[in-house]
Amino acid sequence: MRLIAASLATLVAASTLHAQSTALTPHQKLARSVYQQLVETNTVDSVGSVTKAARAMAARFRAAGFPAKDVQILIPPGKPTKGNLVVRYRGSAGSSASAPKPLLLLAHLDVVAAKRADWPRDPFVMREENGYFYGRGVADDKAMASIFVANLLTMKKEGVVPGRDIILALTADEEGGDANGVEWLVSAHKSLIDAAYAINEGGGGLLDGDRPVLNSIQAAEKVPVNFTLTTTNPGGHSSVPRPDNAIYELAIALTKLAQFQFPVALNEVTRPYFERSASVEPRPEMAAAMRAIAANPADSAAAATLSKDPRFASMLRTSCVATRLSGGHAYNALPQTATANVNCRVAPTSNADEVIATLTRVIGDTGVKISFTVPNTEKFGAAPSAIEPELLSAATALTKKMWGDIPVIPTMSTGATDGRFLRAAGIPTYGVSGIFSAPGETNAHGRDEKLRVKSYYEGLSFLDELVRSLSGSPRT
Ligand SMILES: [Zn+2]
Repeated sequence: MRLIAASLATLVAASTLHAQSTALTPHQKLARSVYQQLVETNTVDSVGSVTKAARAMAARFRAAGFPAKDVQILIPPGKPTKGNLVVRYRGSAGSSASAPKPLLLLAHLDVVAAKRADWPRDPFVMREENGYFYGRGVADDKAMASIFVANLLTMKKEGVVPGRDIILALTADEEGGDANGVEWLVSAHKSLIDAAYAINEGGGGLLDGDRPVLNSIQAAEKVPVNFTLTTTNPGGHSSVPRPDNAIYELAIALTKLAQFQFPVALNEVTRPYFERSASVEPRPEMAAAMRAIAANPADSAAAATLSKDPRFASMLRTSCVATRLSGGHAYNALPQTATANVNCRVAPTSNADEVIATLTRVIGDTGVKISFTVPNTEKFGAAPSAIEPELLSAATALTKKMWGDIPVIPTMSTGATDGRFLRAAGIPTYGVSGIFSAPGETNAHGRDEKLRVKSYYEGLSFLDELVRSLSGSPRT
């Protein structure tokens, strides 16, 4: 039955797609061509070039009449493949101190590596098939990057002068690399990207099958920090074991960590998230637990119920998990060292120093030492962004117009985006896209990354209307 239902759905999707792709508007055609150009430009950290993609987009902006001084490629010293594009679309308000601050649109150009051998077809050739776009980056994050580009080029072509400046930043090193993207722009060129607030990835709509359930705005995110657990021992001949053993000591410490759970730490985004999500949660016991924890964050029974779902477990608190392990140096020698990497996702109400103090206490006197895996990095506290009322009301009105009476819910990502660097630099940042997908459907970072064709074009319209509204650029 499931198979039949699935293949019927595929047929319907395919016929809808066919009708759609034959009747693209000029705006949609432009977006699709930018999208394809970006996906087909390899921007993987190790072998690709973000600069190449940034230059291709810069050429489009210059050709559309943007002055050269407002289309800048910013390349960190000694990093020729890590060029960022910053475009300023000047508004009528000018840039005096009394003018409204700009609106920043952020998307990253780099993508996670994709091996040709792992994919049924070339991941750097964009395919449109069965109602989906396929290719590395079609979801993360070249859909939004191409949408922002196509929307600004279209506004320019129409002669629109926004009420306030709009800044577009297409950046490097979100997925990996050495912090040559937003983190670098914030420290080296803050004035070029300074804004009232930013629109970024991290939000979007949720589908149940083909039915829109909610539209989310990401207003907070957990911050990743890695710790190394290390234990050392003089070692010796394995034919004469001793009670002290580096591998056993590390195993005991990791077992203590596995049994530990950080306390519930809700914030101004997650508490209302649970309250509002209860109305669209299909599992009655989960919906009840959502309402209970929103009313009383100390409700441990509600926390226990929610924690059965790994996504909610992570939204409730800081989490730490062992992700790498190594130890010993020979089959016939007692281990002299054993190490593990522990990857933590720190709740916005906490920070890396608090977490290392907690882990030290949890591990206790096992003889295991704990340290930052990368010293002095990723310690950004990223307080949630209080929702900008004009953004929330514009997104809510548009959502109602496009998808009917579904809620718009501010959320916290358990994964990280570059929003944390902007928030830490005092630029409130919101993940909002109007791009809908079913849970896990896009398989971002994985094989056959995909995005619904319908969702892409809906996101194009949604972000077009939203940015015009927030920048004071009425449709001409
Ligand atoms: Zn991303």
